[in-house]
This record gives sequence, C-alpha cells and structure tokens, in this order.
Amino acid sequence: MNNSLEDFDSKKVAKILLKWFDKKGRNLPWRKVLKSKKNPYYVWISEIMLQQTTVNAVIPRFKSFIRRWPNIKKLSLASIDEILHEWQGLGYYTRAHNIHRTAKIINNDFGGKLPKDSSSLKKLPGIGDYTAGAVASIAFLEPILPIDVNIQRVLARIKGIYLNDKKFKSMIRDFASSFVEINRPGDLTEAFMDLGATLCKLNNPKCSYCPISKYCISFNKKITNKIPGKSMSKARSRKYGVAFFAINQRGEVLLRKRKNQNIFNGMMELPMTPLSEKVWTPDSLTKYYPIKGNWNDTKLSYKGPLSGFELKLSIQFTRVITREKKHWFSLSEMDNYALPSVFKKIIDLVEKNFLKN
Ligand code: SF4
Repeated sequence: MNNSLEDFDSKKVAKILLKWFDKKGRNLPWRKVLKSKKNPYYVWISEIMLQQTTVNAVIPRFKSFIRRWPNIKKLSLASIDEILHEWQGLGYYTRAHNIHRTAKIINNDFGGKLPKDSSSLKKLPGIGDYTAGAVASIAFLEPILPIDVNIQRVLARIKGIYLNDKKFKSMIRDFASSFVEINRPGDLTEAFMDLGATLCKLNNPKCSYCPISKYCISFNKKITNKIPGKSMSKARSRKYGVAFFAINQRGEVLLRKRKNQNIFNGMMELPMTPLSEKVWTPDSLTKYYPIKGNWNDTKLSYKGPLSGFELKLSIQFTRVITREKKHWFSLSEMDNYALPSVFKKIIDLVEKNFLKN
C-alpha cells in the first residue's frame, strides 16, 4: 500500500487503468473514432453538455445537436435563437450562448478548426480549465489529466485525501500531473472518467470490481465512504421571485423575451419580478404586473436548483380580455419556443390546476 506521492507508481496504475478501459470503457456517441482520431467538435460539444447534465440525458441531446449541425462551420451559421431552442430542457443556458460565440470565433479566427492546445482552448468562451484539458487530451493527445469533480473524487480516494484538507486542491493537482501518459493521454482521461462513473461512484463505490484497488489508499484503509467527504463550503442560498401567468380570451399566454440577464438571456419567459433574497409581499408586486388584470396568488410555486442557488418562484394568475399588442403565445404551441424548463413546468402546473376541467 502506498501512503505518499513519492512511492506511488502512477505509470503502472495508468497502464492497468488503460487495460481495463480497453475492455470496459463506455461506448458513447461522441467517442467515435475516425482514422484513429476522435472528432474534436464532438468532444467539445459533449464536454459542454456534460458540464451540468448527466450522461444519460446528454446522449439523445448530443445526437440531435450533431444531426442538426454536423460540423463547426454549420454551427457557426446558426442563430442564437436556434441554438437556444435546441438547448431547451438542458438548463444552464449560458452554455448555449457560449457555444454560439465560440463557434463563430473558431470559424472566423481559426479556419473552422478548434485550437489544439489547452491554453488556447481556455481563451474561448465557456471553456475553462477542465473542458480545455479534456478536449486537448482526448481530441489532440495533449499529455494532461483534467480534473472535474468525478476525476477529483477518484484521485482523492486513491491517495486518501480528504476534501477539508487545506491543501486538498494542490495535492490533487500534483497527483493528477503525475499521470503523464504520452501515448494515450485521451484514453487515460476517459478511463478516469469511466472509473468514476461506473465503479468509483460517490456513494457505494464498487471496489471489488476495481482494477486498481490494490493501489487505492481509501480501499485499503476502509475509508472509501469518508473520502472525499464534505467541504466546508456554505449551504446554497435561496432566491425568491414571482412569475405572472396571464391568459387572454384566445387561450394565449403572455410571454416576454429576456434581455441582458446572466440566466436565460435571450430566451422567452413568463414575465416575473427580479429575484430577491427575501420573499415578495403582495404590496411589492404591483409595479411588476405585466398587464392590467385581476391578479390572484395561485398558491402554486416552482422550487428547484438554478445556477448555484435554490430558486422559489410563486405564481400569480389572471384571465384578461384585451386587444393589447404584446407577446401572446398559444398554449398548444409552447414547444416551438425557446422556453427554459422552469417556465414550462410553471405553465404545466397552471394548466393542470386552472385551465383543465
Ligand atoms: S478501489 Fe474503490 S475507492 Fe479506490 S479507486 Fe477503486 S473504486 Fe475507487
């Protein structure tokens, strides 16, 4: 058993992992190999989708995205509205905006090809350290092991490092850099990804199937359920808002386009108040009503995580008879609009409780 960075044989462990990966690696649509190379465009799009979304949810969305825009050139011609529409339901829409911007930059400044090294990739919108490392190692064979939360967990367990250790980050970084695989860096990155996803899971890791259990400190010390453990980070904050659901005599719902916002920018939404740390009182709503009407509190609400905080949206409802020219949209055609899933869920809730007999 190895207890320090110095006496751990990363080369040997990498070799075992690669052998395991050759037999047990996951067959994912973005991993298709053409002339012994992975498609950098596929790797980039899949990595962006996987940033906040599970593999199972990403697979059909990736296939549909690639069917629509099979290469960067075609993607660079797409409008932001088209990309947002395709992105519906995946959440974290900043990713769609960044893909739109990055595709244009790559097409205009890099001749339609992704730059090949992690430092150049990092300069592109929406590509941080991990994504740059993943794309560079998988698509361009840069000898680097990128660290996301899953790979971090695997590394922490192998070395027995607790998350609340003050030097956690630097120890993990040092340990990751000891895995320099010259011949198959991308395969090693994917092997770590697959180990984290299939065996070294957050809860109940399947260590008896693990090819490297012999080298794993957490396994040998029987502390896998304690590593990496909890960080000292604070609990998520909560934000409150009120969404306004107005329906007219033609069965159309009032929507608006969201502008200059970090979240859902450019997408359609139900009109709503700004988000606040405090619960909204009825008196404070008057100035945000999007149209005159007999507004009522539905007592319904949407709760869920959103971009690092917990969101709670209460829902006000009114029926109106109006000729006012605003953005009215037919309820039956909602699927055609780039509407974040938060608002789709709210519309479903109101439909079920107020509009169906
Ligand atoms: S032995 Fe268990 S804890 Fe250690 S790397 Fe393998 S699956 Fe993870």
